[in-house]
Amino acid sequence: MQERSFSREAVQDRLKEIRENIAETCDKYRKSGDVPEIMAVTKTVPPEVVNWVFDMGLDLLGENRVQEFQSKKDIYLPEARVHFIGHLQTNKVKYIINDMDMIQSVDSLKLGQEIDRLAAANGKIMDILCEVNIGGEESKDGISPDKLEDMLGELSALGHINIRGLMTIPPPTDSDIFLGRMAELYESLKDKYSMDTLSMGMTHDYVQAVRHGSTLVRIGSGLFGARIYT
Ligand SMILES: *Cc1c(COP(=O)(O)O)cnc(C)c1O
Repeated sequence: MQERSFSREAVQDRLKEIRENIAETCDKYRKSGDVPEIMAVTKTVPPEVVNWVFDMGLDLLGENRVQEFQSKKDIYLPEARVHFIGHLQTNKVKYIINDMDMIQSVDSLKLGQEIDRLAAANGKIMDILCEVNIGGEESKDGISPDKLEDMLGELSALGHINIRGLMTIPPPTDSDIFLGRMAELYESLKDKYSMDTLSMGMTHDYVQAVRHGSTLVRIGSGLFGARIYT
């Protein structure tokens, strides 16, 4: 891996611009007061650098690898809230169940059941999102939209998970179309399942996602600079 350098000033400047873009989009397309939260996606970013964002008014972090998270978590400031956003194998839930505020990447009944089981064993209720493969891409994780309702029905019967909403990574091309479809899907389900979170929008498409009603944008490279790998 090459050395990657980070500058606090650059992170601050990028965040300012992201906030301005979001505010402008909300002014144009959303009701007043309806603004999405910004998550700092911290994969591949050293924890000392991640800790800068707490001074800048962010406290929500997104991690996508169990091992990487474990190597960083003790250095994060205590006010950090952390969501797991990567592919999660059932046998790894036990390593993160007590450190996550939410698991956004639930894409099978089996995974949801394991989270429920371990949450119960640890005396907690875990917030989750169901990850939807809205573009039907072979290469992507997430449940297909036509199987989503069945899974929601089964998961909502479990006592130690709380379904907060949906998450997606749309296909890079035509992302606007898929963000719109995702918004429709969310609107069609949110009352029935008491959802309040639609997690969509990354560095390249967060403005469109905000236009389509995202409640949580996940920004990595747009905040910390380009990743050298992944
Ligand atoms: C890496 C990642 C992001 C952030 O991607 P950027 O393009 O760097 O903003 C968002 N969501 C998930 C699930 C990711 O894995």
